[in-house]
Amino acid sequence: MKYYSTNLHTPDVTLEEAVVKGLAADRGLFMPREIKRLPDEFFENIDRMSFQEIACEVAAAFFGDDIPREDLDRIVCDTLSFDCPVVKVEDNIYSLELFHGPTLAFKDVGARFMARLLQYFIRKKGGDREVNVLVATSGDTGSAVANGFLGVDGIHVYVLYPKGKVSPIQECQFTTLGQNITAIEVDGVFDDCQRLVKSAFMDEELNERLVLTSANSINVARFLPQAFYYFNAYARMKGAGKKDGLVICVPSGNFGNITAGLFAHRMGLPVKRFIAANNANDIFFNYLQTGVYSPKASVQTIANAMDVGDPSNFARILDLYGNSHERITSLVSGATYSDAQIRETMRDCYRSTGYTLDPHGACGYRALKDGLLPAETGIFLETAHPAKFKETVEEAISDEVPIPAPLAAFMKGEKRSIPLPSTFPDFKSWLLGR
Ligand SMILES: *Cc1c(COP(=O)(O)O)cnc(C)c1O
Repeated sequence: MKYYSTNLHTPDVTLEEAVVKGLAADRGLFMPREIKRLPDEFFENIDRMSFQEIACEVAAAFFGDDIPREDLDRIVCDTLSFDCPVVKVEDNIYSLELFHGPTLAFKDVGARFMARLLQYFIRKKGGDREVNVLVATSGDTGSAVANGFLGVDGIHVYVLYPKGKVSPIQECQFTTLGQNITAIEVDGVFDDCQRLVKSAFMDEELNERLVLTSANSINVARFLPQAFYYFNAYARMKGAGKKDGLVICVPSGNFGNITAGLFAHRMGLPVKRFIAANNANDIFFNYLQTGVYSPKASVQTIANAMDVGDPSNFARILDLYGNSHERITSLVSGATYSDAQIRETMRDCYRSTGYTLDPHGACGYRALKDGLLPAETGIFLETAHPAKFKETVEEAISDEVPIPAPLAAFMKGEKRSIPLPSTFPDFKSWLLGR
């Protein structure tokens, strides 16, 4: 499979190049030349297949031309060492729980897949130069990527995060690991971290001296595997006799997760429509209302993994629908919620159903409560475990949120990070000096 850039000013690349480069030379995002429609029989039998079996079929549609089936199946099965179950919250509203992986958030799926795919390419080449993964995080990306790559030979990971803007629980999941993981505490906001990473990839001297790759949600190896669990959700709903009128609601920040869902839809997944649920960062919501995309500085919220002022995957959504606002709005609607509404939603849901939402999932649940039609069944993506936002959630629901064992283990570790200013020359010279 060849990959083209959304900016269309650079030649097509192979899967390996797309994964290693992350971002295209013209600053566009890579898109697969072809999105294969899965056969009808696949959807007829899907409810009798396991999550891993489904994922192997979906992976083969994307990566089957580039990786032998046996190797690909192993990468997929290693990635999915945990389930992504669908849990009923109330009549017609279900939670697709994506927090059963090592760092208790959905990004484990893409990060684990990317680490294994990159390792596969390095081994195939008999690679001699160390590969440096640069990743900007507003919270959960850093921990998922760091843990996905932890101890993987030949790869060093640098996690850039905004000082004081990620929760202590999130921070400990990528600052305590050691080994091949280095955390960098940037004096700025998430958009500064993202800018530093993007500038590094564009810097000629850096790229001559170091092999650099991105693990942000723009990387095809991270965002495409997220399609796996949309198919699994459909399979489990079909098994439960609830496959008609499905609406999938995705709490969104950089829009990688929902883009993977839209790819699944293009592959034939029978979903009626999607909702992108935002916190107060309402750039995409405004685009849907007006047809005008105006990025702005991100604002801080209690759903901080969605504090994004210029969602990087927006270019992919535009590309997928030929820049047609009409086509996009016929399939995707939006919602935006203030912190007060998110708190209220966590409280009300807990009181009326006993289900504990995290602040991100709360946006998704709320958008279904507000927008679901009578004949529809809604599934929201519960993107992180509520214990990752313990204080916020406990305050909202007036009850205790127990900390799962894997999270407690991280919190015992010793924090180590490198403080740096948000200016690119400083970051560059520090990288070159290592
Ligand atoms: C990253 C993240 C999101 C946003 O996902 P995007 O793919 O960036 O839209 C939502 N919730 C949680 C918990 C996250 O970590």
